[in-house]
Amino acid sequence: MNLFKHELRIEDEEKMIAITDTVRGDIEKSGIVSGIVTIYCPHTTAGITINENADADVQHDFLYGFGKIFPKYDNEYLHEEGNSFAHMKSSAVGASKTVIIENGRMILGIWQDIYFCEFDGPRNRYFYVKIIKG
Ligand code: ZN
Repeated sequence: MNLFKHELRIEDEEKMIAITDTVRGDIEKSGIVSGIVTIYCPHTTAGITINENADADVQHDFLYGFGKIFPKYDNEYLHEEGNSFAHMKSSAVGASKTVIIENGRMILGIWQDIYFCEFDGPRNRYFYVKIIKG
């Protein structure tokens, strides 16, 4: 089996959740030692990114900076649900990331983690991990 689905219960309005260990576990279960792994988020107000894991302040600053680029309130927004800021952040981050697997391990920098990014919580969320041999 090389497709995995994971559920997240996110209590915060915005949060970056490290999912690297979950992806590592899926790769191990798949038995695939060389190929690629895609981590995919099927939501329009969340996303997947890869960024620094050493200093938690980076996550704070990431969310703060995105909040400045895509403000929560703007009289010109039309979308009735009132979460256009979260839709824009989702597209800016992207719905998926792909990482190379070699010798059974993801090629990630020592400071890199894979993050599920919530931009419109609290919500129940899912992400998929697909591992392809090659
Ligand atoms: Zn919406």
